[in-house]
Amino acid sequence: MIELKKLEVWFVTGSQHLYGEQTLQQVASHSQTIAGSLNDAAQIPVTIVFKPTVKTTEEIYSVCQEANNEKNCIGIIAWMHTFSPAKMWIGGLKILQKPLCHLHTQFNRDIPWNDIDMDFMNLNQSAHGDREFGFMVSRMRMNRKVIVGHWQDPEVLQELNAWCRAAAGWNDWQGAKFVRFGDNMRYVAVTDGDKVEAEYKFGYAVNTHGIGDLVKVINETSDESIDALIKEYEEQYILSASLKKDGGQHSSLREAAKIEVGIRTFLEAGNYKGFTDTFEDLHGMAQLPGIAAQRLMASGYGFAGEGDWKTAALVRAMKVMGSGLPGGNSFMEDYTYHFDPENQMVLGSHMLEICPSIAKGKPTCEVHPLGIGGKADPVRLVFNSAPGHALNVSMIDMGNRFRLLVNEVEAVAPLHALPKLPVARVLWKPYPDMKTGCAAWILAGGAHHTGYSQNLTATHMEDFADMAGIEFCLIGKNTNIYQFKNDLRWSDVYYQINK
Ligand code: MN
Repeated sequence: MIELKKLEVWFVTGSQHLYGEQTLQQVASHSQTIAGSLNDAAQIPVTIVFKPTVKTTEEIYSVCQEANNEKNCIGIIAWMHTFSPAKMWIGGLKILQKPLCHLHTQFNRDIPWNDIDMDFMNLNQSAHGDREFGFMVSRMRMNRKVIVGHWQDPEVLQELNAWCRAAAGWNDWQGAKFVRFGDNMRYVAVTDGDKVEAEYKFGYAVNTHGIGDLVKVINETSDESIDALIKEYEEQYILSASLKKDGGQHSSLREAAKIEVGIRTFLEAGNYKGFTDTFEDLHGMAQLPGIAAQRLMASGYGFAGEGDWKTAALVRAMKVMGSGLPGGNSFMEDYTYHFDPENQMVLGSHMLEICPSIAKGKPTCEVHPLGIGGKADPVRLVFNSAPGHALNVSMIDMGNRFRLLVNEVEAVAPLHALPKLPVARVLWKPYPDMKTGCAAWILAGGAHHTGYSQNLTATHMEDFADMAGIEFCLIGKNTNIYQFKNDLRWSDVYYQINK
């Protein structure tokens, strides 16, 4: 569903006519070598496309215009091999609508101590040519990523990898559609927000369908498609005895499969990239979608419960960004605390809907009653998640702006079996520590719903927030509450002034 290699990032080198044809030929050949090497690098998930050196105002404008119009172009890497007078860049940068990465590199890694002369210096002068370019981007108050280092440096490739992935997530949102089955969970604040502003700012549309529209599609599901899905369930999961063909609740499994086929059909027909539902609006549905939401997430759809469209869209973007990396991304909720002073941690889960892309081992497929919603017992996948570094990410509507909040966490294996907890779950320790991490989250207005990631870093999310032009707040190893509170205050002032 998500293929990053078909997306293009354009490698654009800036120069000018001052140095003569011979120098420009060397510039072009070096640029081609770098672009080709980036394209071939295993760390770079997208296609890097070499573009001819831009040397005039018109050429710069033109390449920016082309980038805007090319559907598969998700961003531009700019590099000034020589000196590219930056007034030439004003017109192009002014119209550029794709994310910009400034790769501050140099063709030669080392100074050739014995051979260096003025010709070499004039050719390899990005150390100052890139500063001229950087000034103009800063002068124009444009968000961009600046990556510094030799183009073969593994750290540079890693940073570029993260930026390309963020650009892929951002590109995926442009023109995307998300569907809400039913509205927001009644009276809940943080899951709601300004969908008009979101479409303006983020490029995706969120529209509702009455649950009846979905139920109609679910009811048209054929027995054959249900049979096929049951077979898939049998192969991929450990079915509890009661759900097996000869078990007493096999009809619940068929009902769950019917719901999955129905939602998938609905999403495909409407070209949606994700959805929300709410247990308060399930008229005509037998169960709250459990395994359906879980498996749809695993195939790349964004999802969040209780009408939380911001988190559904976020989960989708995170899935795009993490595509092809080991580990997964899921809808998540901070559920319960373990306040043992020696070992404080958070138990994360949801009523049902955690994505099996973060599962450790083969999930079990079970059916149990659900205390709320008043429907039949829903079928769900139950599993633990692997320990390791992870993130919780929350998109919040602050009224005058969106805030993207990230908490770096360390996932840990459960201390004990949880035999009476029939849901997928994750245990983690927030950075910098439990008390500071949770206090900072609450001070920043972070939601109880998040996108949980095993394969993205705070850098991916920061680059993504910069592309969206929204506030980014990080709770990580160095977070200190005094400083964090001040950062939130400065940020409030900034967004009052910078509208
Ligand atoms: Mn919830």
